[in-house]
Amino acid sequence: MEHENPSIFDFELKLIYEYFSNFERQGPGSPEMTIKALSFIDNHTQESKILDIGCGTGGQTMTIAQNTKGNITGIEIFPDFIDTFNSNAKKRGLQNRMNGIVGSMDSLPFHDEEFDIIWSEGAIYNIGFERGLNEWRKYLKKGGYIAVTDTAWFTEKRPTEIEDYWKVHYPGITTISNNVSMMQKAGYVPVAAFTLPENCWIENYFVPQAPVQEKFLKKYSGNKSAEEFIKNHCRYEEEMYHKYKEYYGYVFYIGKKFV
Ligand code: SAH
Repeated sequence: MEHENPSIFDFELKLIYEYFSNFERQGPGSPEMTIKALSFIDNHTQESKILDIGCGTGGQTMTIAQNTKGNITGIEIFPDFIDTFNSNAKKRGLQNRMNGIVGSMDSLPFHDEEFDIIWSEGAIYNIGFERGLNEWRKYLKKGGYIAVTDTAWFTEKRPTEIEDYWKVHYPGITTISNNVSMMQKAGYVPVAAFTLPENCWIENYFVPQAPVQEKFLKKYSGNKSAEEFIKNHCRYEEEMYHKYKEYYGYVFYIGKKFV
């Protein structure tokens, strides 16, 4: 992204990360849905190697660790999130099986066919669904699984207001059936696709934000970037969701790398 004034952009980015550090998850989801996605993946063992891409502070990674026996690597571009990830793993005595590292999803520092499972919740949009599925495939063993969530259209036609909103925020957004088809074309057998229920957005994503927004507006009172971020980004995102949730939402896709 091009920015005229990098110092303002850096400030905004720091602010956004500070804001999202307050939450267990940085995107819509729930432990129940992570466990549901895991239920489609068979025969993982103590030997399984699992990669969680764009893991954030590791909300879902913890759920994966508690419901598998394998070794999990979380990779994330923001170093503070990785610090939280690793200290939470330690607090729960999972540091021997969970390791968070700083890195980018578009240049992963791993060997071909290193992993049995690749996970990614609410993060693949950063490089796009199709590109992510294509580029990450080589890191999976033959017969390995990928499980990702991404925003998708639920219907073929949408009101202009929400269509325009997503064109700006995620130009790559498409329908569930298009994403399943992309998964198949990228060399995976689509095993499952299911939509995340509204509580993943409302109770787990928007509701925890309200008190943090109040705190932020006080702390950064008079700061235009902060006010704009809270009012025009966070609150607008919530408003759009309440108004148009019949038309879009998060979808979990599980695929098996074709042998
Ligand atoms: N999986 C977590 C976080 C989702 S938010 C959850 O569901 O709670 C998306 C995450 O992707 C953020 O933590 C963001 O810092 C990270 N991210 C953005 N671009 C990235 C990149 N290029 N490589 C790795 N992580 C990235």
